[in-house]
Amino acid sequence: MEKPRYGYARKMARKVLKDCGFTEPPVDLIKILDKHGYEYLEVDTFPKKVDALFVETDGGCYFAVNASQHLHRKRFSVSHEFGHILLKHNMSYYAADISIDNPPTDQTHTAAEDSFEKEANAFAGELLVPLDMLKKEFSLTPDIDVLAKKFLVSQAAMGVAINTNMRSLYK
Ligand SMILES: [Zn+2]
Repeated sequence: MEKPRYGYARKMARKVLKDCGFTEPPVDLIKILDKHGYEYLEVDTFPKKVDALFVETDGGCYFAVNASQHLHRKRFSVSHEFGHILLKHNMSYYAADISIDNPPTDQTHTAAEDSFEKEANAFAGELLVPLDMLKKEFSLTPDIDVLAKKFLVSQAAMGVAINTNMRSLYK
């Protein structure tokens, strides 16, 4: 497997955001999915281990998300899965007979290519905390807690975003 294409993953996220014309946090994921013809669905029968699932049926494509997870986690999971789709990750995960009634096990993603996981995370990070928005908000306050609330992400995700973009933020 080749090295993760971080730059490409982030570029794709920025393209998605640009197409939606978002300029302010928090990023409206449901609107993004809708624009791409995907539905967002919360499922309360998923096992705790299952975060989110992309399902393709004759009736349409949707992202099914574990309703019991925290909002921040839901947002990250959906963005991550959406990243796999947009970055055209060819994972057996999607080919397998996985459905809402038969969700994947916790091994599904660990078995997936490591690079795909990293790319999907980079995509999700940029989608939820876009650099241009972060720059603007960061100039008002560098407080991770405040920023995390504004972007509707976990403090951990905000920490990663700040670290990733360190050079652009502190100059
Ligand atoms: Zn994944």
